[in-house]
Amino acid sequence: MNTSSGNTVKVLLIEDNPIHVGLVKTLLSESKSPFFQLQYAGTLQAGLNQLDAAAVDVVLLDLTLPDSEDLDTFIRVRSFAPTVPIVIVTGLDDVKLAAKAVEAGAQDYLVKTQLSRTSLIRSMRYAIERTRVRDAEWDSPMFRLAQRQFLKAAQFMGLDDNIRQRLLFPQRTLVVTLPFRRDHYTEVETVFGYRVQHILTMGPTKGGIRYHQDVSLGEVSALAMWMSWKCALVHLPFGGAKGGVRIDPTGLTSHELQRLTRRFATEISPIIGPDKDIPAPDMGTNERVMAWIMDTYSQEKGYTVPAVVTGKPLVLGGARGRNEATGRGVVYLIQEAAKHLKMNLSECTAVVQGFGNVGSHAALFLSELGVKLIGVSDATTGVYNRHGLSIPSLLEYVAQNRFLEGYPEGDHISNEELLELKCDILVPAALQNQITAENADRIQCKLLAEGANGPTTLEADEVLNEKGVFILPDILANAGGVTVSYFEWVQDTQNYMWTLDEVNQRLKSILQDAFRRTLNRAQKNQFDMRTAAMIEGVERVAQAKLARGLYP
Ligand code: NAD
Repeated sequence: MNTSSGNTVKVLLIEDNPIHVGLVKTLLSESKSPFFQLQYAGTLQAGLNQLDAAAVDVVLLDLTLPDSEDLDTFIRVRSFAPTVPIVIVTGLDDVKLAAKAVEAGAQDYLVKTQLSRTSLIRSMRYAIERTRVRDAEWDSPMFRLAQRQFLKAAQFMGLDDNIRQRLLFPQRTLVVTLPFRRDHYTEVETVFGYRVQHILTMGPTKGGIRYHQDVSLGEVSALAMWMSWKCALVHLPFGGAKGGVRIDPTGLTSHELQRLTRRFATEISPIIGPDKDIPAPDMGTNERVMAWIMDTYSQEKGYTVPAVVTGKPLVLGGARGRNEATGRGVVYLIQEAAKHLKMNLSECTAVVQGFGNVGSHAALFLSELGVKLIGVSDATTGVYNRHGLSIPSLLEYVAQNRFLEGYPEGDHISNEELLELKCDILVPAALQNQITAENADRIQCKLLAEGANGPTTLEADEVLNEKGVFILPDILANAGGVTVSYFEWVQDTQNYMWTLDEVNQRLKSILQDAFRRTLNRAQKNQFDMRTAAMIEGVERVAQAKLARGLYP
């Protein structure tokens, strides 16, 4: 364990029960490597004073103290020392509260009656290591969200600690810097790119490639982790992966985009391939980008390898229906949720944030079912019309003008205002982190279908669950894309193409099955839909890991 003072770990125990203080002292005193230097305080105030005076590596915290109680205790320690790892020590009666503290950012919790030397030392070690790695490399709000969602599910399902620690970070990450020429020939731009493979247990890995100015290792790792749960939830034989380049693609010409893509494909080619890892489109990329990746990879191999990417043009072995599959899947799931909630879709209103691949298709298919679309948006503006918007007319406008800005048949509103419109169905289909503690209580929909990955924070989840909003979580709601990508990969590896009807029928039945399993689990165990979907996915991965055993 690497700490501020070499092999000595400075532990601050804030606990008022002398019996437990004695127990921790005894457990830690037996360890020589690392050596634990234990200080303790019987009140929160005394603990904060000691935290102020000494460099502490980890805090062991009882939430019930003479001068502070419940989550407040954790929040006060966390705000006093934002970067110090905190492990909650709790009585059996307060496990739920301890789990809440973990959701709020504590690294772990331990039940006092189950405390052993191994569990105590291990928990502190992981807490310290996780904090160090996160601060150094993975730090991003999205990765923290993905880890916290996973930890929440892991606690609810009592996941084996060995597997829990393994799944918290990706198995493989590749960070590349790559140069490409601008159209001005002497100008060379160097950018960062990533490919992350979260878990290789399930088969090849699968996940999109994102071009966006905010892409980071943390963001890509979060997306890769979500892909693992998503693939497992819908029973696809893939682990999760994701890739990205930190660049705003809207500022590139088509030639620049092609040179960038080909160089990125070359940089990641050692770790991708039909049996290894299969990229697909995500934000800022599309079928044209996939065609360039496929061509670059094939040139390097010396023969055509269609199955190296999915989401390709039809003429190169793309699947019928792949382009619209994510939006179509969102709408199949909305239909299932509406049946469950007894909502008549032809009397419903909907709002869609993001008018790219996912958002525009979801809006189109909803409108075809008779849903009245009253608001849509993209990066430039929101458009609102309480009488209903014409989606074909919006699509035509965007095809000509690229963005919604200036669209004449509606009022122009901000993205913040759009999310808060009163409607039956809200589909965030743009970016992560859109529904937060700040705006959650102003969200007015009955059904939230997450087309985007990670649009809702855990704090917002809680507010929405309390308000009774039914959530189709991202790993379920947008699983249609990877499902049809799977069909494309199957077709390419077998050289046998399916009809559009076959694709859509199979997609529908896979998503309906995943919806039913998630809803059953949620109802049976009183979980929210996100936790139920996460557990469906995590459980399958855990079972596969146990079945394969540990190498070597
Ligand atoms: P896209 O690039 O085709 O479209 C993104 C849309 O969001 C564009 O209309 C853009 O203008 C808009 N946007 C960007 N910033 C915005 C902002 N600040 N406010 C409002 N709108 C903004 O991307 P996409 O493929 O449709 O992906 C959207 C989301 O869906 C992402 O979270 C992605 O990870 C997720 N997703 C995509 C797929 C897929 O198959 N494409 C599959 C699963 C999940």
